Amino acid sequence: METQFVSGMIDEWCRRLYDWEIEEVRAMQTIIDQNGPKRELQSGLMWNNKEMASYPTNGIFSTLYESLTPPIPKSIASVVWQKYIPPRAQLTVWLAYKEKLKTGDFLVEKGIISPQNAGCPFCRTELETNSHILFTCRFAWSTWMEMLKWWNLAAPLHKSFSDFSLQWLGLISERKYKDIWLLSLGCVIWSLWYERNKIKFENKIVSLENFVMSLKLRIGTWAKEMMGYSGCAPNVIFNADSFILRP
Ligand SMILES: [Zn+2]
Repeated sequence: METQFVSGMIDEWCRRLYDWEIEEVRAMQTIIDQNGPKRELQSGLMWNNKEMASYPTNGIFSTLYESLTPPIPKSIASVVWQKYIPPRAQLTVWLAYKEKLKTGDFLVEKGIISPQNAGCPFCRTELETNSHILFTCRFAWSTWMEMLKWWNLAAPLHKSFSDFSLQWLGLISERKYKDIWLLSLGCVIWSLWYERNKIKFENKIVSLENFVMSLKLRIGTWAKEMMGYSGCAPNVIFNADSFILRP
């Protein structure tokens, strides 16, 4: 029965799964099997802390948070679990934090591609890794610099997700701009990965100028859709003074 179910799950994917993906599906199935509903048990909501008399949201959050292995440092949890970006971007940011984006180095390690095909699609010179494609590649680095320039900021940037995120959060002190600043971080990460895939799978060539322009447009669109940010219609996004930049 279990084998059939796993087989069914594998067959239902849009494409044929790689062997390592089949292993992950099997692992997920094992977890599901171990935590399935049991007729002899009564349904209900439980949490470990018996001292909670009422519904303590913070207490439940802390309990769940501490049960994560390994836990995400609270200092960057707001980056990894940010709420003002679409789910597809949330997933990409989470994978970036875990360094689980399926970059060239990962695919070589799994024997899916040869090292000759594991280069960065942007610069075509370096091995594609999570930190390279998002931070240290000259295309990615230039993109972040353009973002800083957009906000009249300047700073040397770190190369790892956690250090970079902490630094990014500290660059803006005004409370009213915190959410849009955080959204910008998520939007850049997702957009770099999205653009990388378009180059990789559609042979699309992108210029930094056009990419940054589309990125600003996307930040404005997401801010409007996800945050209800007023005055950020796409047609005014490039008028920085009237849009999201500081007066
Ligand atoms: Zn590169």
